[in-house]
Amino acid sequence: MDNRAIRFSCNSCGACCKGRLIPLTLEETKLWLKRGHEVAILLEAFDEFQWGSTRQELAHAKGRAVEVTSGGVPIYVIAVFAGNALTGCQNLDDKNRCGIYDDRPLVCRIYPAEVNPFITLTPASKVCPPEVWEGGEVLFNDNIIDPILTDQIERSRKADRGDAQAKIALCEILGLNVAAWKGNAFTIYMVDREQLLDAIVFYDIMKGSVVRTNWRVRTDTPSLRKKITKTGIVLDDHLEADYIFYPLEDI
Ligand code: SF4
Ligand code: SF4
Repeated sequence: MDNRAIRFSCNSCGACCKGRLIPLTLEETKLWLKRGHEVAILLEAFDEFQWGSTRQELAHAKGRAVEVTSGGVPIYVIAVFAGNALTGCQNLDDKNRCGIYDDRPLVCRIYPAEVNPFITLTPASKVCPPEVWEGGEVLFNDNIIDPILTDQIERSRKADRGDAQAKIALCEILGLNVAAWKGNAFTIYMVDREQLLDAIVFYDIMKGSVVRTNWRVRTDTPSLRKKITKTGIVLDDHLEADYIFYPLEDI
């Protein structure tokens, strides 16, 4: 075993079920809403020309994104649908047990591993208590070695790619059209549950004939605003923002 071997044994403390947004596949979103729970939508945009990371990371991001336009300029937008567990997941009982354990979302099964192949697992970045990293099975070394976990991560990545068009179309149906600039911030829409359920029904009927929106980008960083404006991409003036703007340094 190499030096990066990481042992992990979950102690069911429930910390990962509180104070977070839980990314969901589209199918998981439907179930989440039908259980009466709230969903948030996080949006981020990028283009190829100002991409600051590797080509491999760009290809990964494009796989999760949809090409749309802003002021006639093509940009990519990623929509993350997430269960709202900011004040604690509504599926968590008072003994910190998951009430939908057998049906819990993929990301709940995957945590604390990373879905993004370009993020290295670091125990310090996780909410798990220190003692859970001191024993148990070796789950991670330079590669994830648990075949069940590997399969769950692959299914999560596949859903990210497969759901991208539908998630962006749902945003457009709902009039959610301001994305933050990837790496700089997120825009977060706290969506009305009934409206999102109705939009999903509408999308299932109208699939393929949803009218494309003119997207806008929100950033409050002066140098970035200048750079983006030069490309012709439309910035949001955010005078009456119906979303939360979440700068990345605050996450
Ligand atoms: S669905 Fe279950 S495992 Fe996932 S955050 Fe909620 S309580 Fe935790
Ligand atoms: S925070 Fe870590 S140790 Fe606690 S329940 Fe979640 S995965 Fe397990």
